[in-house]
Amino acid sequence: MSKVHIFNAGPCKLPQQALDRSIEAIKDFAGTGVSVLSISHRTKEWDAVMDECRAQWKELLSIPDDYEVIFLGGGASLQFLYVAFNYLEHKAGYLDTGVWAHKALKEAQGIGQASALACSADRNYCYIPKGYEIPSDLDYFHITTNNTIYGTEIKTDMDCPVPLIADMSSDILSRRVDVSKYAMIYGGAQKNAGPAGVTFAIIRRDTLGKVSRYIPTMLDYRTHIDKLSMFNTPPVFSIFVMNETLRWLRGIGGIDAIHALNQQKADTLYAEIDRNPLFTGTADKEDRSIMNVCFVPAPGYESLQDEFLAFTKARNIIGIKGHRSVGGFRASLYNACDMEDVQALVSAMQDFEKEHK
Ligand SMILES: *Cc1c(COP(=O)(O)O)cnc(C)c1O
Repeated sequence: MSKVHIFNAGPCKLPQQALDRSIEAIKDFAGTGVSVLSISHRTKEWDAVMDECRAQWKELLSIPDDYEVIFLGGGASLQFLYVAFNYLEHKAGYLDTGVWAHKALKEAQGIGQASALACSADRNYCYIPKGYEIPSDLDYFHITTNNTIYGTEIKTDMDCPVPLIADMSSDILSRRVDVSKYAMIYGGAQKNAGPAGVTFAIIRRDTLGKVSRYIPTMLDYRTHIDKLSMFNTPPVFSIFVMNETLRWLRGIGGIDAIHALNQQKADTLYAEIDRNPLFTGTADKEDRSIMNVCFVPAPGYESLQDEFLAFTKARNIIGIKGHRSVGGFRASLYNACDMEDVQALVSAMQDFEKEHK
């Protein structure tokens, strides 16, 4: 079969090396003669994977020593609740930059007092709000660094007068992050770090233990920190594939190398969107995401939407239908998506233009 160009918003395309190693491990994990799907998580061979995975996260993101890295189930969506349970005592502030940010806020409001300090719903979340005040009496301020559905991104680590908590589901490991600016960072692995089924959390230890409520055992970050993410059975296979994905990332040069490549991919695609009279970008230019590139047919060309989807599908380009709340197209340029994939999409846009001018 000829190469399929995968632009899925999540689960993401994964590096071939990680897929190949995972296939081998399904047959025989670490020379044990047992499949990774059947291996006990209470073995030294499995401990080695957990240790390596944590160490790779710490190395790739230069995570300071006073932070813990844990792996959980339930997706980023369950983290919306975890965050409120573990951090919300009096009140919290949220930056409402899209559907996921809004869902995070809603979960916190079910636990205590939480509100949006700023919101970009007035223009269908096509920008990142600026110039708002962060009150100094908040327990924490929650942001969503990359808005997967709208293609907007907070690309710098802000100075925040209160503990800063970030959902980085869809841009973690795509660029360098100053982890020391955050009290905690979390996300579902399936956008950039691995397959679905595992959730990562990076937590500064001294930010925990400050709320008075009872925290259910499974929802208490300290449970998972104390038990090295194995209080109960971890998502073994998902962690295995994530570890292999991180090995690949380190092998190609780590965060600075992937960031340069991601920037090049995004610049190439945005340049074509801005040049091509048939298409127009939806996010404000200064807030454009380097991970999720959203665009629609230019005014007057709306009727070409389905035709372009069929045109690209015939060229094995998949996953570019935009989220229903924005419409149009979205190409997700996660780490494993390469320049060849981006070139295939750009060529398709150029050939489509020739057919319609
Ligand atoms: C996909 C996504 C989520 C939801 O992740 P799940 O793991 O499916 O719960 C949350 N936040 C952001 C920014 C996302 O892109």
